[in-house]
Amino acid sequence: MKKKEQHTNWLEDFNLSHPLVIAGPCSAETEEQVLKIAHELKNSDVSIFRAGIWKPRTRPGGFEGVGEIGLKWLQKAKAETGLPLAIEVANATHVKLALEYDIDVLWIGARTTVNPFAVQEIADALNGTNKIVLVKNPVNPDLSLWIGALERLANAHIKNIGAIHRGFSTYEKTKYRNNPEWQIAIDLQYKFPNLPLICDPSHITGKRNMIQEVSQQALDLNYDGLMIETHIDPDNAWSDAAQQVTPAVLKEIFTDLRVRKESDDADDFTKKMNKKRTQIDELDSKIVEILGKRMKIAGEIGLLKKEKNVAILQNKRWNEILGKMILEGEDKGLSEEFILKLFKAIHQESISHQEKIVNN
Ligand code: PEP
Ligand code: MN
Repeated sequence: MKKKEQHTNWLEDFNLSHPLVIAGPCSAETEEQVLKIAHELKNSDVSIFRAGIWKPRTRPGGFEGVGEIGLKWLQKAKAETGLPLAIEVANATHVKLALEYDIDVLWIGARTTVNPFAVQEIADALNGTNKIVLVKNPVNPDLSLWIGALERLANAHIKNIGAIHRGFSTYEKTKYRNNPEWQIAIDLQYKFPNLPLICDPSHITGKRNMIQEVSQQALDLNYDGLMIETHIDPDNAWSDAAQQVTPAVLKEIFTDLRVRKESDDADDFTKKMNKKRTQIDELDSKIVEILGKRMKIAGEIGLLKKEKNVAILQNKRWNEILGKMILEGEDKGLSEEFILKLFKAIHQESISHQEKIVNN
């Protein structure tokens, strides 16, 4: 990895010539495991050592974390390696213990960000702290909820805050464990340009062989850092085994990552980029225009259906459209998954448009 130009607020204290990296196991498992990983990560691009102490499991029966004893192991790791520590907190008791054990960075997990009561409780317990507090995106793709959690921290006079993008959960299976929905994080970045934004490719991908690719995408979008789950024996990890990498693999990932500059002078590259961007802008306007036309015709069909008292949803016709569009999409290099998503969204909008007309 190489240098990124501008850093903001608490990030500056790390005095880095590259994006911030937080690494360490999904969960602290044993003292030996914690110490081994921390030692392998010192003297690398890693600036902060992470480990989960309390694990929010989706269903009961999974490993729920070692609890307070793990904080002692982390303290030892910090004493031996000098690496500052980061853990997840989900309630005021966790915060109290984290402060007692002098943890440096506290993050709010995706399952906690969705709950304003829990976030408020954490904010109150941390009121005025100088610790760094990071907020993962909520599990559902809701930018306001993410911003709301950050606001609760800011209102509690917590100055050193940041966001972690870990992707959004979906019912349908995709190639990601949690769909990145990059646009949501880009919108956050746009609204709060000085808020450090960190990508967690481990929870986005759920698979170690995709970490490199998603980390690069994040750096290309000008993220300030990465949080990557790292384990000495990933296959036998007690949680999130498939997505953890060894410290050696992590170092390889760093070697291959490229940090791109914010923009170059008015050189050939910029000119070419601007031109392409203009083309994209034009096409986007056309897409919206065509969709508008399509919706208008759908509305007219709604009126016809109303006259004849015909149901709005015509499953047979809809399946025909989908089949046809998947074939046409294939021809243009568009995946079936994309065509399905696109047309489902268009169809949904058509139906609600027609419903308004028919029930008016
Ligand atoms: C984690 O970082 O191990 C974790 C539980 O993350 P998330 O809240 O993103 O699921
Ligand atoms: Mn994890």
